[in-house]
Amino acid sequence: MHMKYFIVTYGCQMNVHESEKLAAICEKMGYSLAEKREDADLIVFNTCAVREGAEDRVFGNVGALKKLKKKKPSLIIAVCGCSTQKESTANYIMNTFPFVDIVIGTFNLPNFESYVNAVKTGRQMELLQEGELDETIGYKRTSGDNAWVNIMQGCNNFCTYCIVPYVKGREKSRAEKNILSEIKALIEEGKYKKITLLGQNVNSYGKDLSPQVPFSKLLKDICKLQGDFSVTFMTSHPKDLGDDLIDVIATEDKVLKEVHLPAQSGNNRILALMNRRYTREKYLEIIRKLREKVPNVRLTSDFIVGFPTETDEEFLDTLSLVKEVQFDGIFAFMYSPREGTVASKMEGQIPLSVKKKRVNELLALEKKIQKDKKNQE
Ligand code: SAH
Ligand code: SF4
Repeated sequence: MHMKYFIVTYGCQMNVHESEKLAAICEKMGYSLAEKREDADLIVFNTCAVREGAEDRVFGNVGALKKLKKKKPSLIIAVCGCSTQKESTANYIMNTFPFVDIVIGTFNLPNFESYVNAVKTGRQMELLQEGELDETIGYKRTSGDNAWVNIMQGCNNFCTYCIVPYVKGREKSRAEKNILSEIKALIEEGKYKKITLLGQNVNSYGKDLSPQVPFSKLLKDICKLQGDFSVTFMTSHPKDLGDDLIDVIATEDKVLKEVHLPAQSGNNRILALMNRRYTREKYLEIIRKLREKVPNVRLTSDFIVGFPTETDEEFLDTLSLVKEVQFDGIFAFMYSPREGTVASKMEGQIPLSVKKKRVNELLALEKKIQKDKKNQE
């Protein structure tokens, strides 16, 4: 009988795109997509480590497969991605869920096929510490007329709350010519109207290449490709969003007039503790320039409330920033301590009840802003 696979993805767009690579590997092995996990012979969890909630959901959902495995002992269960890149989590899964067959980290993904083949000889666990950019495996694209295109992996910023640099390694940019030829081929396929460039901090694209290629140049070169398509990107870091990029967004018709620019906090002391390397004033200056040069630009942002030592007054600065900018949408997160990060060891962790109160206040403000904007239309 035909073998089937099912992938469960947690986390960001980059993980969604990684799962498109996993799907391509599964199909190359001869598996086809199952409609639901009960029908599958191979179930893969592609995990996220950014916040505690995402990890807890993985544990719950993996645990729930015990029954399925009992019914179908040949079922192969794999857990991979950012969460299992951490040794403590990988060990926890191996010890808690004896029916899980494969536990691998982010850097092991290109070898996924060999782990599946090796299951016959026993359970697999491996966490490579570093990985090369993989240009050989394709993607089974699953996002309609939007095609995700990875332009870099990893992050060098070490925001003190964030696990990403620990599980994704240092920044590595793909060669510009490889990105351009991937996009050219996508456009020629004729199925895609929108290209979304992905990276943890796209503004530092190309700094590790020789010669260096600024992100604004990459974007301009993409716009020179023939065809009827638009291009957008995420995520931008305010510390390196320069005038050159604002000019490209303003002048190139193919670039969508939208920027996701996570501010994280509106308070300078908290921003410094977060190691974000910009101030509230610098952030507002970028917003002012963007709005000046790109009329009607769609602006969205991320915020973290309850970072260690954040006082009520400092939280008010976040509310006032959100009020001042009038974003087109924001994500608000309660700070979640991540093992091994600087902030997780800071004194002055904020009680959950306070974080909840703050996140609700921020979300209520956001709701009001969106309602008022709608009424003005
Ligand atoms: N590279 C991107 C986003 C990475 S994670 C950037 O720098 O903006 C996506 C969002 O998750 C972040 O913008 C932040 O708001 C949130 N986040 C990251 N770590 C977190 C943590 N420990 N607790 C709560 N939210 C977190
Ligand atoms: Fe995490 Fe900061 Fe890197 Fe974004 S820029 S991935 S928040 S360390």
